[in-house]
Amino acid sequence: MERHNRVKRFFGLVAAGILLVPTFSFLLGSSASGLESNKTVYLTFDDGPHPIFTPLLLTLLDENGAKATFFPIGSRLEERWGSDDLQDLLNRGHAVGNHSLNHRDLSKEKGNGAKFQLDQSSVITEKMAGFRPSCFRAPFGEKNQSVLETASSLGMKHIAWTVDPQEWNDASIEEAMNHIVKRFEGGAIVLLHDRKFLALPIVKEIFRSFPSDEWSYETLPDCRNDEEKNLRSSSRTTGDIPVGKVVDIKKIGSNHVLNGWGYDPDQPEGELKVFIEEPYDQSLISIKTDSQHNFKFEITDLETDDPICLWLKNEGPLRHNSFIGCHNVHK
Ligand SMILES: [Zn+2]
Repeated sequence: MERHNRVKRFFGLVAAGILLVPTFSFLLGSSASGLESNKTVYLTFDDGPHPIFTPLLLTLLDENGAKATFFPIGSRLEERWGSDDLQDLLNRGHAVGNHSLNHRDLSKEKGNGAKFQLDQSSVITEKMAGFRPSCFRAPFGEKNQSVLETASSLGMKHIAWTVDPQEWNDASIEEAMNHIVKRFEGGAIVLLHDRKFLALPIVKEIFRSFPSDEWSYETLPDCRNDEEKNLRSSSRTTGDIPVGKVVDIKKIGSNHVLNGWGYDPDQPEGELKVFIEEPYDQSLISIKTDSQHNFKFEITDLETDDPICLWLKNEGPLRHNSFIGCHNVHK
């Protein structure tokens, strides 16, 4: 189709304050707008983080502009990841929930056991991310009223699943996809495990069968934290790399407005540079956050299927800039 052949080589830029308006030709058909629609699906990944598979999975999600919710095991998170790693996952727009400290069957825990498992896992997340998870998934899905009440007293709702391709049990990719295709629908919650390599080819197949320019892959609403910006920002100290995220993409007429925030503790007054990758020749353009650490980016015309990727400039000691993920802006 002609619309895919016409490729403009440059962003046309009109920068006014923090608002920047690239003028691609927006020629793609539009479907749903906003974060939720009847084609929104929730990918969830349990039992991580894995030192190799989780980073590969994060790259795969970014290539498709997809967001997901992770339920790491608390003790594993503490052993394998530092604060920067968890902040990186959150920077890319993903969410984190609680999956207990040691992957115990919480319905069989005696006395304060379940509370200890859930609370200690949240303590670890809070130490690394600055906030406690607002959702949890019971290990093995085993829960009872007492577990739900305990979790609720710790500010967490339970998240089950609607699609379980059993890749943890080494199902073949074909078996897993047969299961997924039958149950794939708007609102589906797909259970996968980033401790398993098999999750990667399955996610690739999901994106092939249900492309991210037709389906929205979002974080679970119950796992999002309204205070994330303030809590994550205040957990950072001088010398740390910046934190932030793209919060939403709104469709206004034929334009798309991308809203986000970015905070570098080495430049607490704001005016932090945000780099946006030009999708055709990978050159970077930049805008700045305001004094409240928010940024806004308007795209008037876009001629690409590719997600748009963003970074926050690191103003502290010489280290990498913070990647804040790739995002589908063509819905
Ligand atoms: Zn698990």
